Amino acid sequence: MALKNHKYVFVIGGVMSGVGKGITTASIGKLLSARGFKVNLLKVDPYLNVDAGTMNPTEHGETFVLDSGLETDQDMGNYERFLNRSLPAENYLTSGMVYQAVIEKERNLQYDGACVEAIPHVRDEIIDRFYKAADSNGSQISVIEIGGTVGDFQNAMFMEAARVMHSRHPGDVLFIMVTYLPVPKTVGEMKTKPTQNAIRQLNSYGIQPDIVIARAELPLDNRRKEKIANQCNIRPNNVISAPDVDSIYDVPLNFERDNISDVLIKELGLQAKSKSADLKSWKTFVNKTKRAKKEIDIAVVGKYFNTGDFVLSDAYISVIEAIKYSAYYSGVKANLHWLSAKDFEDKPGKTKELLSYDGIIVPGGFGQTGIEGKIKVIKFARENKIPYFGLCYGMQLMVIEYARHVAGLKGANTREIDPKSSHLVIDLMPEQIEKIKNKDYGGTMRLGAYPAVLKKGTIAKKAYKTEEISERHRHRYEVSPEYVSKIEEAGLIFSGTSPDGKLMEIAELPQSEHPFFLGTQFHPELKARPLDPHPLFNAFVKVAKARNQERSAKPAFSSGKKTATIKAK
Ligand code: GLN
Repeated sequence: MALKNHKYVFVIGGVMSGVGKGITTASIGKLLSARGFKVNLLKVDPYLNVDAGTMNPTEHGETFVLDSGLETDQDMGNYERFLNRSLPAENYLTSGMVYQAVIEKERNLQYDGACVEAIPHVRDEIIDRFYKAADSNGSQISVIEIGGTVGDFQNAMFMEAARVMHSRHPGDVLFIMVTYLPVPKTVGEMKTKPTQNAIRQLNSYGIQPDIVIARAELPLDNRRKEKIANQCNIRPNNVISAPDVDSIYDVPLNFERDNISDVLIKELGLQAKSKSADLKSWKTFVNKTKRAKKEIDIAVVGKYFNTGDFVLSDAYISVIEAIKYSAYYSGVKANLHWLSAKDFEDKPGKTKELLSYDGIIVPGGFGQTGIEGKIKVIKFARENKIPYFGLCYGMQLMVIEYARHVAGLKGANTREIDPKSSHLVIDLMPEQIEKIKNKDYGGTMRLGAYPAVLKKGTIAKKAYKTEEISERHRHRYEVSPEYVSKIEEAGLIFSGTSPDGKLMEIAELPQSEHPFFLGTQFHPELKARPLDPHPLFNAFVKVAKARNQERSAKPAFSSGKKTATIKAK
C-alpha cells in the first residue's frame, strides 16, 4: 500500500552510462537529509540475476552486503557511506528478483487464474516494492536510481513503473535526469544535443524530467542552461551544472552551489525544517581529504584488478574507501598499490619489495588463484613485522600461514583449495556440507551482520572500545573448531568469536610480538563511513603511519617498486 505524503524522486540516466548516477543519487540523499528529511535511497538493477552475489567482481565491481545479508551492487555502498546509515534489503531491486516473485506468485495461484503479464503484474510488483521500501524505515522521501540509460530495453519496465507512480501520486513524484555534455576536441564547445535527444527519448516513455543534472568536464554556462531549458520544457534553475570534481565527496557541495536542495524541496512541495543544508561535518571531512599531505603506502594484494592492460580497483571499492577514511582521520593520505598475488608465486625474491610499504592488506576473495602468493606475502609480513590486515580470505590465509609455519601443521589448508589436506584448518561447518551435497549453494554462505564478542587486552578490543560488535559477513568457510586450541597454543589469539564461542571472528598476534598482524573473518570495510571511519582500519593506519615515520627517519629500504597506484579520487 502506498504511504500518504511520501515523496518519490526517480534518478534516470541519459546519453551514456558511467557519468555518476549513483553518486548523484547518494548526494541528493545526503543533501535532503542535511535539510532535515529522513531519506531512503533505492537502487534498481535491471539484471536478471536475483542478487549481485553471482556477478563477477572484475566485470561488475564489488558485491556490497547489507546487514540483512542481501548481496547488492556497489552503489548501495555509496548510499550508506553518504547517508552514514545502514539500509534495509527492501532498498535493492533487480529484475531477477521481481520476475522471480511474479513467477512464484503465479505458481502459488496468487493471481486468481489471471493471465499473468508484464503489464500489469510485473509493473505492479515493482511498484509494490517501492511502497514496501518507503514503509520499511519511516522515511519521508525515497530517491530511486534506475540502473542503465534511457532507451535500454532492460530497464523499460522500471521506467513504466515510475511513470505510473507519477500518475497515481500527482505532486509526489519527481524525475531527475542525469546526462552528459561532451566537449568534442575538434569542435571546441560544449554540445547540448545529446542531452536534448535523451530527454526526448525519456518523453517518449511519457516521462518529463523536472530537473536535469548536466554532467560535463566543465561547468555549464547560462547560455547552455537556457538552451536545455527552452528545448526541453525545464525551468532554467532546474538545470544543474555538475562538472568533474577531484573527489566524489565534493559532489554534494558542488550541487548545493546550484541550490539543488531548494529546487528539490520546492518541486516536491515540501517544507524544510532548516533554511540551508547542514553540511558542517561533511565539509570538515572534505577539508581533511584536501589537507592531508603526508602520504603512507599501503599494498593491497589481490586478484580482481587485471582486465587486459588496465588496472581496475572497483572490486575493492569499500576497502579503498575504508583505508582512505582512516588515513584522512589521522591526517595522512593513503596511496594504494595493487599487487597481483600471482606475481609472488612466480617471481622469487619479490617479497622483498614489501619492505617498502607501510602496511599490507589481503582482501576477500574466492578460489585458487594467487593463494600461495598471498600466503608468502603474509609470512613475510609476519616475519618482518610489517603491519598486516587480512579481510575474510585474508584472515583465513593468515591462519593457514600460521598453522603451517608456526604451529607445525604441515600442509595446512582450506577445504576450498585442498579438501584432501591433512590439516583442514579452514573448513565447512557440518550443516553446510549437507547443503553442498545437495547442490544448494545459495544457502551455504554466511551473509550479513552477525555479533561477535571481544577478548580483553587485545588489539581488537582496544580499537573497538566495546565488548560486543556487529559486522557483515560473506564467506562459506570458517576456522575449524578442531584446530583452534592448537593454533592458539602456538601463539595466535582469536580475539573475537561468535557469542557462543564456536566461530572465530578475529585473529591477531599480541602487540608485543608484532605491531599489527590481524585478520577478520568478516568484512569490516562494509561498515566504514566517511563520517565514522572503522576502528580496525583506524588502528591499522595508526601503526602504518608509525612505520612510515620510522622509515623516513632511516631510509634503509630502496623502494624499487613499480606498481599501479591509485591516487585518492
Ligand atoms: N573464499 C572464502 C570463503 O568462502 C573467503 C570469502 C571472502 O573472502 N569473502 O569462506
